[in-house]
Amino acid sequence: MNLINQILTGKAGERLFLLGNEAISRGLLEAGVKVATTYPGTPSSEIGDVLSQIAKRAGMYFEFSVNEKVAIEMAFSGSVSGLRSFVFMKHVGLNVASDSFMSTVYSGAKAGFVIMSADDPSMFSSQNEQDNREYSKLAHVPMIEPSNPQEAKDFLKTAYEISEKFSIPVLFRTTTRVSHQRSTVELSGIPDTSGMKGMFVYDKGSYVDLPSNSYSLKERLVKKMREIEKFSNTLGINKLIENGANDVGIITSGEAYNTLMDSLNENNLRADVFKIGMTNPLPSSVLFNFLNSHERIIVVEELDDFLEESVRALAQENGLSKNINGKMDGYFPYSHEYNSDVVSLGLSKILGFDFKIPQPMVEISDLPKRLPVLCPGCPHRATFYAVKRAVKMAKLENVIYPSDIGCYSLGSYPPFEMADTMLAMGASVGVATGLAKTTDQRIISFIGDSTFFHSGIPAIIDAVRNKSVMTLIVLDNRTTAMTGQQPNPGVPIDGVGELSYEESIENIVRSLGVENVVTVDPYDLKSTLLAVSSALRYEGISVVIAKRECAILRDNRMRREKTWKTFEIDQDKCTKCMRCVTTFSCPAIYMDEGSVKINPTLCDGCGVCAEPYVCPYRAIKEVVPVAD
Ligand code: SF4
Ligand code: SF4
Repeated sequence: MNLINQILTGKAGERLFLLGNEAISRGLLEAGVKVATTYPGTPSSEIGDVLSQIAKRAGMYFEFSVNEKVAIEMAFSGSVSGLRSFVFMKHVGLNVASDSFMSTVYSGAKAGFVIMSADDPSMFSSQNEQDNREYSKLAHVPMIEPSNPQEAKDFLKTAYEISEKFSIPVLFRTTTRVSHQRSTVELSGIPDTSGMKGMFVYDKGSYVDLPSNSYSLKERLVKKMREIEKFSNTLGINKLIENGANDVGIITSGEAYNTLMDSLNENNLRADVFKIGMTNPLPSSVLFNFLNSHERIIVVEELDDFLEESVRALAQENGLSKNINGKMDGYFPYSHEYNSDVVSLGLSKILGFDFKIPQPMVEISDLPKRLPVLCPGCPHRATFYAVKRAVKMAKLENVIYPSDIGCYSLGSYPPFEMADTMLAMGASVGVATGLAKTTDQRIISFIGDSTFFHSGIPAIIDAVRNKSVMTLIVLDNRTTAMTGQQPNPGVPIDGVGELSYEESIENIVRSLGVENVVTVDPYDLKSTLLAVSSALRYEGISVVIAKRECAILRDNRMRREKTWKTFEIDQDKCTKCMRCVTTFSCPAIYMDEGSVKINPTLCDGCGVCAEPYVCPYRAIKEVVPVAD
């Protein structure tokens, strides 16, 4: 049985080897969650990948929403209809959702409502590493932080109990290392929720955020948080790990707990550890006892000084004169995820033992630099190539390329170097409009299909209304590729694989008032080049939709259909002009002992390099498939 089915059917007491995100998917079933929504974002995406396959069989409503704000509104509706609901997103997604998020907290929850933020310290796949623990204070919501997959599953149950006990949404925060850590997880049972139906009961005082209502809702919220603070002192998820060390007490939470324990073990250190599972509001009575019973307190946490600030405030309020060390006095960094070396270095300075960050075992400085590249056969490469050629042919100078969030952000690297700004989902068009107003330069901006639906549309309306002169290239690869090929509104299937309405980007763009719109196949370089050249001559907003499925989808499809092919270079015709290597840069094309060759295992068979616009000597040709 495959793992996804085991997540659905595993019995209480069974043990599965699960990713943190897979454990969360199982935790949702064990918590009886009936509604789950998301906009895909790493490091939270795997939850959606599991739910899209099991939700129907589990009797759960699941959707990939158009963006995080809509996702949170959907899940809120589930909760106020009496069904346990869950919404999950990456950390920056909570910025998009925050307008509704802040108000849902005032309204409260009826059935349990948990909002998961998957944070990304070190920015493995994000534009920033904001610490979303701060949102729990900003919004006045309880926050729970697991450290490993078992806790990720089990703490969810606690989150739902708290949400229902206090009628409040709960923020559930993971980080990349918790979401993407794999370990053995012991399962609990799944309740039978098959007969449950939602029923919305009108409650104007709670659900209509008119100022007159919100005035008292804020007071109600503050009162709830005071009660939750008292309750947090009794919570089992706040754990004291005693080592009989009255001199040193360390406070930590989440992934930082794992690196701390590694560091203590590696350095043979003895310290009591207070691992906090609910990090807002803090269990102040228990925490005070911990502070009071240790001579020196150390706070180990990634990113902001979220815990340390509160620990210092608690000590001061209670007149405790303690040595408290952390990042506010410079022992630990505010940036990037921790490992045991980072923690050991900080501890060595505080506790006075020798520690040096070990040198890497292999000197890697002599290795050639390998920049991240678009996949072989990626349609975005063909589009970037055509745009670059069109700009050159039009002899345009000082062109500005505002770009956006998606695989195509790789267009910022050589040889294309077409990403002059990149801020946030959908920001390319807004920035392009601004630059069109503040400069006389030509603007060519890029946005992906999923990002277009997510938050690009309002900015196009703004560009049209304000008569911007710019060219927008919509890179429509028929999927949300960067996060793992999730469907978006531009494809005819929904989040659970059922047929659905397929939105037309071209129709939407026209309906917004853009008159100069054309859809092209980027594999057809000539047509793409002509379309972009024409768009660049237009004195208004012009949109070119480069529509061609993601190379990975195409590759899978062609192998399924047995139509997969590959290309090779005719060495007799190749002049070694290097255009295919230096200006097109498909990773399947490489140099071997002075000859240009195509690696058949990497070649995706797109055939774009064989076009005369890439190889003018027609040296690249299709390999005739060998008959079976
Ligand atoms: S056909 Fe050419 S461009 Fe396409 S994947 Fe193969 S080598 Fe790369
Ligand atoms: S573009 Fe054509 S001729 Fe030039 S190096 Fe590549 S295969 Fe050879």
